[in-house]
Amino acid sequence: MSIFEYAPAPESRSIVDIRPSYGLFVDGEFADGTGTPFKTVNPATEEVLSEVATGSDADVDRAVRAARRAFTRVWGPMRPADRGKYLFRIARLLQERAREFAVLETLDNGKPIRESRDVDVPLAAAHFFYHAGWADKLEHAGLGPAPRPLGVAGQVIPWNFPLLMLAWKVAPALATGNTVVLKPAETTPLTALLFAEICQQADLPPGVVNIVTGAGETGRAVISHPDVDKVAFTGSTEVGRAIARAVAGTEKRLTLELGGKAANIVFDDAPIDEAVEGIVRGIFFNQGHVCCAGSRLLVQESVHDDVVASLQRRIGTLRVGDPMDKNTDLGAINSAEQLARIRDLTAYGETEGATCWQPEGDLPDRGFWFKPTVFTDVSPAHRIARDEVFGPVLSVMTFRTPDEAVAKANNSTYGLSAGVWSEKGSRILKITDQLRAGVVWANTFNELDPTSPFGGYKQSGYGREGGRQGLSAYLRSDF
Ligand code: NAD
Ligand code: MG
Repeated sequence: MSIFEYAPAPESRSIVDIRPSYGLFVDGEFADGTGTPFKTVNPATEEVLSEVATGSDADVDRAVRAARRAFTRVWGPMRPADRGKYLFRIARLLQERAREFAVLETLDNGKPIRESRDVDVPLAAAHFFYHAGWADKLEHAGLGPAPRPLGVAGQVIPWNFPLLMLAWKVAPALATGNTVVLKPAETTPLTALLFAEICQQADLPPGVVNIVTGAGETGRAVISHPDVDKVAFTGSTEVGRAIARAVAGTEKRLTLELGGKAANIVFDDAPIDEAVEGIVRGIFFNQGHVCCAGSRLLVQESVHDDVVASLQRRIGTLRVGDPMDKNTDLGAINSAEQLARIRDLTAYGETEGATCWQPEGDLPDRGFWFKPTVFTDVSPAHRIARDEVFGPVLSVMTFRTPDEAVAKANNSTYGLSAGVWSEKGSRILKITDQLRAGVVWANTFNELDPTSPFGGYKQSGYGREGGRQGLSAYLRSDF
């Protein structure tokens, strides 16, 4: 029990108008899908929010044709500065309607309103602003004197940051002159459909952005459509592999942003309180549904007990519950399936001999919930040290020397991100240099910015999103 009790501070949901059903957004208009519609629920209450269309192969084909027409006739030939104006307009509309997006994201995904309001939506707008600025400066991006768009991009995204992942995909594609067919995840389609309204409001020419909802089959239709020039996927390594196989031998360009099992390395000279905040942010942000989550904590042996004790004290103050409450730190797990995966892997942890700790307190009766969890006595061979849990579950291991820290951190099939905590700048530079991870944070964690390229090594995928580097995934400079 904490010494302070907070009164409930619920955000109102009256700002969003959720329709009972949604169609597909193709060629600038909403239209029925020909597949069987599916329901999307609020994972915090299991309440059905809406019924959403499923795009069939024929629907996806219509969307790709619309995107091709828009590319050939309007968006491709358009003056780059004019494309930039549309992107600026979209960015401003996202800001104007930020509260609506934040509430809708939290209802559909289960993440705390504090995060959707302060992270997801502002960062999504920032991605559009950033890429709007690039639209008429591409010849200065270091990618050749006259880089050209690829054509139609087929994009498939996951449920952990629904609007933000849309922004990561759509903004660079449009800024570089491509058109888009995007498939959101089946548990979180609503903010993508609200984004479709933004495209209408911005007078974006029809067909430049098409949103086709549905599950894996619809995604498969998008990525395997013969008239798609570029495939961009974020999601599980397993599906990423299937996509790589489907795209192999075609002319399609491919970027994959897959899972991770990031090491967060705490040296004995690190300021412990700050490191603890960073550990919490690393693994409990967004319920741990984060590909770059700091899920493997590597602590120098001499400070292990202090760090774990501080961490447990801090976790005891985290508020788990109603995502719409502005004081909530951890919201709901996104789906029953994901909850089952988290339970499976944590059960393994106990079977394999690690020590499981969870704070006191009750979870809500309805909805999908999992307590913030810390495993100690973890060995690098344990599944909880190797497999991505994609939930609020931290595995703690120790090291004695910097070399051992690096060796343990790199002992992973993944290589998306890592963190280093130390007072010593020279040590940070030396260690970060040796870490085989796409992003390395020093004395912070899970800091994202549109100007900074993001992406992985090994089974975390290939290609970069964001920054100047991210533009190259959507441009042809070979001629
Ligand atoms: P997933 O990879 O199955 O789904 C991601 C997206 O791909 C969804 O839109 C889905 O409909 C689509 N999809 C599924 N099968 C497809 C196919 N054959 N072809 C094209 N598209 C397809 O992810 P999931 O099942 O929702 O989550 C499973 C695991 O994936 C999680 O436990 C986590 O480890 C990982 N994951 C990683 C990220 C990330 O950001 N890297 C995001 C979500 C999930
Ligand atoms: Mg949902």
